[in-house]
Amino acid sequence: MFRKFINKYNLPGFRLKQIEEAFYQKPIRSFEEITTLPKDIKNKLSQEITFSTLREIKKLESKNSKTIKLLFERSDKKKIETVLIRHKDKRNTVCVSCMVGCPVGCIFCATGKMGFGGNLSAQEIIDQILYFNRFLLSCKKPQKVTNVVFMGMGEPLLNLSEVQKSLDIITDPAKLGLSKRRIIISTCGYIPQFKKLVKDGFKGRFAISLHAPNQKLREKIMPIARLFPIDKLIKATTWYMDLRNKRISYEYIMIHDVNDRGEHAQELVALLKGQRLAHINLIPYNPITIYHDIKTVNKQTNCSRFLPDKYSFRSFRRSSRNRIHSFAKILTEAGIPATIRVTMGEDVEAACGQLTNIENNTE
Ligand code: SF4
Repeated sequence: MFRKFINKYNLPGFRLKQIEEAFYQKPIRSFEEITTLPKDIKNKLSQEITFSTLREIKKLESKNSKTIKLLFERSDKKKIETVLIRHKDKRNTVCVSCMVGCPVGCIFCATGKMGFGGNLSAQEIIDQILYFNRFLLSCKKPQKVTNVVFMGMGEPLLNLSEVQKSLDIITDPAKLGLSKRRIIISTCGYIPQFKKLVKDGFKGRFAISLHAPNQKLREKIMPIARLFPIDKLIKATTWYMDLRNKRISYEYIMIHDVNDRGEHAQELVALLKGQRLAHINLIPYNPITIYHDIKTVNKQTNCSRFLPDKYSFRSFRRSSRNRIHSFAKILTEAGIPATIRVTMGEDVEAACGQLTNIENNTE
């Protein structure tokens, strides 16, 4: 967007460098604060380019201040959420949204229950990262965003072109300049888009939301499985591992008595047999405190006939610690590396599967 501006006013190339450096890498709050530019250019920038496509509405900080969740408003007044996770080892991960809500409708997921409210543009994705980058840069001991994960609201592979445009900006050394290896795209398994992204040269990592060890159960909790069955998904990830020799993480939310029993772990071992680069992230299910009417959800997600009562999200509970550890033991003993994710930000509902509009959170 700045190149167009530079061309329009026939400005010298160094002005582009100055603008991009300040916009992407300095803790500024408006174009007026760019100290390296003359006033007339700053005025024109302010008049012609929107400094941020998102407006901060609400900020929640976890008790230990390690996790911050932001509610943003777009120009159409729709809301999205973004999370910053500050790790002990100085990594700062931003979990970005790429959609308003999500059309996929996984039944354990707070975002899925919102339904779909539209795709975000590449700039809206970038503005989420910039918000936190500027915040970190303005701290007493300035830091930066070091990692970006597409694990917020929405399915990145259903908004592929905007996500790809945002990846170019995130990794461009003149802009955000993050290492490609520090980006994770999480997907529930849209196979054609997954292959396209790989063939287009995506060098980040993938996290596959698996959450069930067999087709029957996956269909019940993730409607996508009807479109892309689990065996085809595993074939696609094997293709990727063979091609790139890179690890894939499978995300597996542990829900009490739904997918967390010993036989489920055994099935998972059989499913991933032969994938030497598979890794499983076991995620303790995070209870969701907002409950929409299940009929509305079913209407939005169009999957009511696949949701018997016992699978309504009201009944979901987190697996016990013992069960999660036994599950992990079965996997590791079978040679599949498994980690149990430490849930961060649970007190601000910023943990996995909990992103929904804070404002709605009244029940
Ligand atoms: S788990 Fe991911 S794909 Fe499924 S509904 Fe939630 S945001 Fe969408």
